[in-house]
Amino acid sequence: TSNNLQGYAPICLGLEDFYIRRLYLRIQDCFGRPIASAPDAWFDVVERYSNDNNKTLKRTANMSRCLNLGSYNYLGFAAADEYCTPRAIESLNRFSPSTCSSRVDGGTTILHNELEECVARFVGKPAAIVFGMGYVTNSAILPVLVGKGSLIISDSLNHNSIVNGARGSGATIRVFQHNTPSHLEEVLREQIADGQPRTHRPWKKIVVIVEGIYSMEGELCKLPEIIAICKKYKAYTYLDEAHSIGAVGKTGRGVCELLGVDPADVDIMMGTFTKSFGSCGGYIAGSKELIQYLKYTCPAHLYATSISPPAAQQIISSIKVILGQDGSNRGAQKLAQIRENSNFFRSELIKMGFEVLGDNDSPVMPIMLYNPAKIPAFSRECLKQNVAVVTVAFPATPLLLARARICISASHTKEDLIKALEVISRVGDLVGIKYFPAEPEKQ
Ligand code: PMP
Repeated sequence: TSNNLQGYAPICLGLEDFYIRRLYLRIQDCFGRPIASAPDAWFDVVERYSNDNNKTLKRTANMSRCLNLGSYNYLGFAAADEYCTPRAIESLNRFSPSTCSSRVDGGTTILHNELEECVARFVGKPAAIVFGMGYVTNSAILPVLVGKGSLIISDSLNHNSIVNGARGSGATIRVFQHNTPSHLEEVLREQIADGQPRTHRPWKKIVVIVEGIYSMEGELCKLPEIIAICKKYKAYTYLDEAHSIGAVGKTGRGVCELLGVDPADVDIMMGTFTKSFGSCGGYIAGSKELIQYLKYTCPAHLYATSISPPAAQQIISSIKVILGQDGSNRGAQKLAQIRENSNFFRSELIKMGFEVLGDNDSPVMPIMLYNPAKIPAFSRECLKQNVAVVTVAFPATPLLLARARICISASHTKEDLIKALEVISRVGDLVGIKYFPAEPEKQ
């Protein structure tokens, strides 16, 4: 490791901490419960969020307020909002924090029905079903959609909730190279009878699963190409829009809108409410028949307590703001702002010489660190200067592809972003992660 460490002693400490943390996780795995918190930035406990959520994050330890570059609060709705918050409070008074009932046993309020209609309309599908947790939406739906005799073809970097759902389904699973349509076609050709298009035989069903924006890569899905291949081979498409719905597209309708794809061409649309909508839960949107089938058969609908009423109201209200149905143009402004903020931050990081993954318009911006030993050094040095950055490593990424993952929000101001860029630049020099420094100008 010494080549990269540049004599910065705390990084060596960081290396030790990194392995200690891995050891904690290993022990935790063995005992099935957490045994201790590891000594790093984001393992700390947050005492409160500021009203705007993104600007400050008060932590219990020595740190007080810092700029939050790690939250999924893309549109700034996870904060006191003049339209959403009073309505969430009203719903708390009218209903309660919890329905304490499953959807089919008294847990369906008028808000749940309104939410499902609102989501279906927003994503451009005939119907939708909502769940109390985004993770569960993937992990519980896939086993209902497919089983033994069916084939799932999954992008190699799909989220853990998809991996778990696919494994739990009993279907055969094949993985295609991340966001590579030509490899998807190769896998499909190998799997179907005589390698001939226009059949899904010998499989009962084939489902191809992709994400709109990849959560660890910040990359947009090559959706038009993937849909064309799925149509050719009669495979269903399943699109997880956790990070793209609300965050991209002219009116916030996600990657379909951004990439000019007709939502009718995506068979199963999945998304979460925990990012752009500042709430919690997840949805599946699709044909009326599909949603009806899920309502009759999905255990997470039949046996789980329904989404909390204030959370449901928060989603309905934030969608109304996005669509301008609150009587203001704040939604359009937020969408323009997240785009401007993301593109500004990304281009400045690249100019500074960082290796930044992902595409323009994506608010998810991984800065490559590579060496796992640089993780704690990077995050601690940023934190010392009051900038909170999430770092990700194995098993969320391959071992030697550690990165810091910046999430940009519409509620970051230009001053916030400039301050963050200055800090990240200084820390980048210190930790030695500017892999593409600009050429010095010729005299
Ligand atoms: N899908 C993807 C792509 C995700 O990144 C996440 C979590 N960030 C989930 C599903 C699970 O969503 P939730 O956190 O809302 O449970």
